Amino acid sequence: MPAEATEFRADVLAIAAHRDDVEQTCGGTLLRMAARGLGTAILDLTQGEAGSRGSAEERGREAQEAARILGVGWRQALALPDGAVENTLENRIAIARVIRRLRPRVVILPYWQARHPDHAITASLGYEACFLSGLKKIETDAAPHRPFKIVYASLYADVRPSFVVDITPFIEPRYQALMAYRSQYANQSAGAGLFVAEEEIRERTFAEARHYGLLAGVGYGEPFVQKEVGLVDDLTLLPVQSM
Ligand SMILES: [Zn+2]
Repeated sequence: MPAEATEFRADVLAIAAHRDDVEQTCGGTLLRMAARGLGTAILDLTQGEAGSRGSAEERGREAQEAARILGVGWRQALALPDGAVENTLENRIAIARVIRRLRPRVVILPYWQARHPDHAITASLGYEACFLSGLKKIETDAAPHRPFKIVYASLYADVRPSFVVDITPFIEPRYQALMAYRSQYANQSAGAGLFVAEEEIRERTFAEARHYGLLAGVGYGEPFVQKEVGLVDDLTLLPVQSM
């Protein structure tokens, strides 16, 4: 995996608050995009120092292993404070620098309403960073770039998705990417009363993906919300059967 963003161009960039967020909400989609030959990338905003289990260093190693399983071409983490992500100009510029280097056509952000404040703030912070990245007046070391499309990964939001990505062929590696975070999810004594067992995580992961797959008439799916209304050229090519 290239360490420097300068040489890699991403078609799809997923931005998330924590290492393992992407694995939980859109890992199957990244696998599918990579299988289509698209360049995929992940920017995590924090390093995970506030977690009850494992150290930031451990999570860093696990994140690279997960990235390998997901087939992403580039992954890095900023060092925003875990549990205290803020939408500041400084943070918007830090993210815009990455967007300008990777030049993604699509950016995936977390859905804007969430239980964890870091997730909700990452949605607005990421959106504003995409906007700022396109402004000529904001000077960084790379040319301005405005992503064409922003979509919101909504798996943990109680909201009807705009569309679902069929991840049926990728459900197993998707799960393996999540389980690459052994320090977080493997059965262990630390925090045993606080965390769910590995077998339960597998059950939940598959059940959630099955639920969203059923909405679109496929085996397993990942849900997304887009703010824009969809535009259609040909009614006969609409992809999901009505009855
Ligand atoms: Zn998270």
